[in-house]
Amino acid sequence: MTVLSRALVPLVRQKRIAVAAGCRCELCGAEILAADLEVHTFGEGDRVKTLPPADLEREILVLCPRCHQDVHEDCVGEPEQRALLAFRRPEVTEEIRKILATRQKPYVPPEVDLEETFSSATRLDTHYRGM
Ligand SMILES: [Zn+2]
Ligand SMILES: [Zn+2]
Repeated sequence: MTVLSRALVPLVRQKRIAVAAGCRCELCGAEILAADLEVHTFGEGDRVKTLPPADLEREILVLCPRCHQDVHEDCVGEPEQRALLAFRRPEVTEEIRKILATRQKPYVPPEVDLEETFSSATRLDTHYRGM
């Protein structure tokens, strides 16, 4: 499984990205609810999937549903989509990169070094027996 398997940008993260972008469509500039904004990725291809998560920031746009639909109906070509990135403010860029780079960690049990636990128990045992 790749880091961004299934959806390239999971839904929970899409909302945070929309908030980071100021709840504004990056194409038409409409301000709408973060929950209604959509994150568009330029390419759904393998190249995008292999990028480090933070670099995905250069591959996405926050769009209102209407603009998103337009983009997919090819009224907006990829060069024009990419040109929109130039208007993204640096602080927004940074925030989005941060959100993308934060991996949801799988549950990891607290670290217990079994070998160490075992050997210290054994040491203790030896110690007692030595007395
Ligand atoms: Zn729009
Ligand atoms: Zn899209």
